Amino acid sequence: MLRIEGVVTSYGHIEAVRGVDLAVPPGGVVALIGPNGAGKSTLLNTVSGLLRPRSGRIIFEGRDITGWPAARIARSGLLQVPEGRQVLGPLSVEENLLLGGLAATGRAAPPKLEEIFALFPVLAERRRQTAGSLSGGQQQMLAIGRALMGRPRLLVLDEPSLGLAPIIVSHVFQVLRRLNADGLTILLVEQNARLALAIGDVAYVLEQGRIVRFGAGAELAADPDIIEHYLPRF
Ligand code: ATP
Repeated sequence: MLRIEGVVTSYGHIEAVRGVDLAVPPGGVVALIGPNGAGKSTLLNTVSGLLRPRSGRIIFEGRDITGWPAARIARSGLLQVPEGRQVLGPLSVEENLLLGGLAATGRAAPPKLEEIFALFPVLAERRRQTAGSLSGGQQQMLAIGRALMGRPRLLVLDEPSLGLAPIIVSHVFQVLRRLNADGLTILLVEQNARLALAIGDVAYVLEQGRIVRFGAGAELAADPDIIEHYLPRF
């Protein structure tokens, strides 16, 4: 569904992503892990069009989307839930959701509001409350809901568990599994490697801008090298 081929992305002279190849099969969940500063967010932002790669290609559903503006990529069915959620604080929950649908499809009032409320009932309860008054976990649900309003076929998530209480994380990941079971393809970056390797059919390890390992999530989770570096025993 998505193929990243030899992608290099730089900030001025700093090469943050240094020739990455990565594939996301239709219906799969692909997890990307790696230490702080490895280039994970840079890679996702390149895929979703927020950054332009210096070289390489990004192919989505057979089309070369390299260099497309982010809005066009979103309309083509590839939607990102950004790191830190970035909901519009002064607007209500419902307005945030409606804007998500509008931004991605160019149409007002897409019919999926009730589907989002079924996935995240707390958003229905708080539909008229401002997004800024929600807890971090509720804002993460809203950010996911907002992306879903654009009817993505590929959902890209940057650190969905960041700063959330364990019980909320487990709820968010349950919803992601359910969405995947219903046919949504997922690419996610996740600091919590244990979680990432559990949900990822396939996982990639990015270090200093390069993929250093990839394999089945379960296989990497059992690998002594990965355990030592990424799966500390608490
Ligand atoms: P984290 O988990 O800390 O978000 P990451 O793996 O997502 O890390 P990136 O945020 O992609 O890593 O950063 C990769 C490299 O690019 C780092 O060296 C970082 O300092 C640098 N970098 C990121 N954003 C910018 C920017 N806007 N300008 C300059 N350098 C940047």
